Parts: sequence; structure tokens; C-alpha cells
Amino acid sequence: MEMSNEALLARIKALEIENSHLRQKVAQESDVPTPIHPDESGLSLQEYLRYGRQMIVPQFGSLPSQLKLKNSSILVVGAGGLGCPALLYLSAAGIGHIGIIDHDTVEISNLHRQVLHTSDNVGMFKCESAKKYISKLNPHVKVTTYPTRLTTSNAFDIISQYDLVLDCTDAPAIRYLINDVSVLCGKTIVSGSGLKTDGQLSILNFDNIGPCYRCFYPQPPSADSVTSCSDGGVIGPAIGLVGITMALETIKLLTGFYTRDNFKPFLSIYSGYPQQQIRVFKMRNRQPTCAVCGSAPQITREAIESDEIDYVAFCGKASPPTLDANLRINVNQYSNDDTNSILIDVRPNEQFQITSLPNSINIPWDPTMKKLEDVDDYLPAGFDKKNHPVYVVCRYGNDSQLATKKLAETMGFGNVKDIIGGLNKWSDEIDPTFPKY
Ligand code: ZN
Repeated sequence: MEMSNEALLARIKALEIENSHLRQKVAQESDVPTPIHPDESGLSLQEYLRYGRQMIVPQFGSLPSQLKLKNSSILVVGAGGLGCPALLYLSAAGIGHIGIIDHDTVEISNLHRQVLHTSDNVGMFKCESAKKYISKLNPHVKVTTYPTRLTTSNAFDIISQYDLVLDCTDAPAIRYLINDVSVLCGKTIVSGSGLKTDGQLSILNFDNIGPCYRCFYPQPPSADSVTSCSDGGVIGPAIGLVGITMALETIKLLTGFYTRDNFKPFLSIYSGYPQQQIRVFKMRNRQPTCAVCGSAPQITREAIESDEIDYVAFCGKASPPTLDANLRINVNQYSNDDTNSILIDVRPNEQFQITSLPNSINIPWDPTMKKLEDVDDYLPAGFDKKNHPVYVVCRYGNDSQLATKKLAETMGFGNVKDIIGGLNKWSDEIDPTFPKY
């Protein structure tokens, strides 16, 4: 008897559905863990397959190490340029429980380096976006998300729940907070940082005997010297490599590769240019004078939770320059300016090459030396410094204020003005086609 085409297609469809149900059933059955010890969960057949290639590496430590990973919990603070690659590899490697804390949402400007987030997740909390990706990558990992800032009031509750902490943040105040709370909770910290083409990696408070962040840096860097990725820029693979080295150190710590006998305090410094290299520096041991891990610590849980320790004040706030109102104009006034004024763009040359206003001259502000180079070289011969209108612009309007002050006060410019809010403001208010970057 012949079947009609429609009946045949319906039959095929039914068989496909039956087939997929059977596959699901087989998968579920082979995914039931076989307990090794009664108090720990063992591996399922699927997990043997998934982790086989790392379990057979001699340095890794075979099945016992895989079980240690499975029974471990880690807290990743920051799901950005360092956190994303670290999370990718650590969830793939089979850490049992991963906590992710990040109060930020995904932005388009993150995506070139924060490779766990995707274009359709722009606007979503980074920790939720990361959880979504991890659940597809490895369904055996439990992920807990905290879409909030780590603060003096929640840090103890959160950090104490995990075996180990990864510091994937980028601001000194939060680094000191993570350090102090982790030391007081007895947790080892894997600490990374990265900017532009370089990065650093270290293990802090190893097994409660190693040096902590305060042993290395009792005093924070001056707030004005701290640059963020949005100001300083960052190459994705360079910071990504640091995140990946953090993942490997985490695996080594959780599987017991490091012991009190073989662990030596270190700081690894990665440089991406000109020739890639990682240099490893031996660091001093724990300092008895350290304010948190030393012999007479002043920093205690009570002092932190009562906000007696003010982390933001300790690290200082970068003070925005303030210029007299008569030395400033807004973007509207500048757009209506019909004098034959000169516009000096004080951004670094690489930013000037991305985009610039017509007829502007690029004379970069040197933030270290706090000066402008050779202005006279760029001006026409016989230029009337005292009277000719000169405007100064930069990306956000900070450096342009410093440069304007310098030009007016020490370089003899009598008619110089800063453009408030810089090119960012110009794009917002005057010309929406002017690219932001
Ligand atoms: Zn210390």
C-alpha cells in the first residue's frame, strides 16, 4: 500500500520527535553522577567525556583533581575584560559553583574584549549575561549572580560563601576591599589587572600565609595617576591573556598543586608589545607590619562593616580640574563662532586620527609632564598670541582645561578658551554624526 506524500512527511516528523526523546533519555541517564565518596558527588559518564582531555594531563592530578574542581566554589568579582575569559575557562573546566558579582550592564564598547557577552545582551547585567553563556557552555556548573556592587556591608556575607576569590576589577578602592575581606575570611585571592597592552597577575593571601595586596602596596597609587580602560584603552587579547592565566592559577590552587612548601610569592607582568613576554618577579613574603594580615592588624571586620575604613577616601578621588568661567565656552557658543579662531585639539594623536573637527590642530597634552609641546611650531609666523582667539578641545573636557590654564597663565595666550565637555558634548548637542568612541 502506498502512502501519500503528506502521510510520509508526517511519519518522518513523528520518528524525528521520537528519536530526539530517546536521545534526551540516553543523555539524562548517562548524566547521573556515580558517587565516589558518600559526602561528595562523583562524575557522570558525560562528565568523564567532557573533562577527559584535562584529567589525563599528568600535572593536573587526574580524577581526584577533577572532583576537587567539581566540589569547589569560586567568586569572580567583575565580569569584564579579565572576568570574561577567566569565567569561560573555569566554567569549561568544571568548577562546581561560580558566583559572579558585577553591577554593570553590557555596553557595545565592552564587546571587543569582554568576550562572554554578545551584541544581543547589550543593556543586560553583565553577571546575568555571563550566566546565560555559561549555562550553554557547561550545564554542570551552578552559577549564582549578584547584580550589585561589592560594598563594606555585603562583602563578608558574599565572600565567606566561596573557597577562593578572583579579583577581576579595575579600581584601587575595590581591590583593597576585596583584599581585606578575603584575608579576614581566610580566602586566597587570584588577582589580575590590565591596561592598554600590558597586564599583571598575582596570588594573594595564599593559604593564609602568603602576602596580601596591602603587603605589596601599603599605600594606594595617587588617584590622578589611575587610568581606566575607557580613558587609557585596552587591547582585547592582552587583557584576555591575563584573565586566562588567572583561570590556570585558580585551577592549580583548587586542585592542590600549590602547597605551603612550594608556593613562592610572585608577580607576573605580561607585555603584549613589541615582542610578547611574561616576566615573573619574586615578591617579598607577608609583612609583619601589614595593616590587615600583619601581627597587629588595625583593619578588622568591625572596622570595615562600620565604615570606619573609608576605601574611597583612602584611595582618593581624582579631582576634576576647575577653570575660571571666563576661560570657558560651551559647544553652542563655539559652533556659532565666526572669528578666524584657531582650534587646538589636545588629545593623543591616535585619538585625533579616529576623528576630529575641521581645521583643528593636534597638539597633544602631556599628562605626565603636564604641558603642551612646541605650540609655537604649529602657529603661523607673527601670530598674535595676546589677542587672536584660540579654543582648546579634548575628548571629555578635562585635559583641555589643564591645557587652557597653561596657555593662559604661562605661555602668553591672552584670548584662549576651553570648550566645555569636549568632543563628546559636541557629538551630543551639535553634530550627532560626529563619532563617539
Ligand atoms: Zn598583608
